[in-house]
Amino acid sequence: MNEKPSPELTMENHLPRRLYDGYRAFRAGRLPTEQSRYRELAERGQAPETMVVGCCDSRVSPEVIFDARPGELFVVRNVANLVPPYSPDGLYHGVSAALEYGVAVLRVKHLVVLGHARCGGIQAFASNAPTGDFIGKWISLLAPAAASVQSERENGDYLKRLEQASLKRSLDNLATFPFVRAASERNTLALFGAYFDVATGELSVLERASGRFVAVARD
Ligand SMILES: [Zn+2]
Repeated sequence: MNEKPSPELTMENHLPRRLYDGYRAFRAGRLPTEQSRYRELAERGQAPETMVVGCCDSRVSPEVIFDARPGELFVVRNVANLVPPYSPDGLYHGVSAALEYGVAVLRVKHLVVLGHARCGGIQAFASNAPTGDFIGKWISLLAPAAASVQSERENGDYLKRLEQASLKRSLDNLATFPFVRAASERNTLALFGAYFDVATGELSVLERASGRFVAVARD
């Protein structure tokens, strides 16, 4: 009874079982095939060409949707995939810090705001659901987008319209960051909006000129 558990069993007890099993599967399957890539990334550092601003929602993983390999996507996720306006006020700005790192330091070439259907953050805002110490303040960023679709409040697809209006607003807010604006003007950074339908797996992209979302790869 005094036998010490093996290190492996000890580790198992320190992670949720699903993560333990998932890591074992990664070590046995994906790691051997990606080993040289990981070594290269460790030695040279990361140089992703694309940054994604996505939602925390567990159903909307950018790496899964875009079939990305390690080192390809620089990702920041937050409740309702919002980009706040540029606001260097000395407070704590995790999303803005990630944007600064991705655009000004890593110099990504593409920046994608990835919205999605059935977003809990958007629903909470639309229904005035009670929120805690942080969520309510954060999703109040949706107010300008909500004002822009207020007249469609009674429509059946109001939430989708709000999700898509918010995505456009986030793209507008991106342009308030001096380093984003500068890179865009140099044509070294391109901004994109994309919208993922959780139920069908369909991805639409925003046509900036028309303001419409158009389905990708419908075949
Ligand atoms: Zn969401």
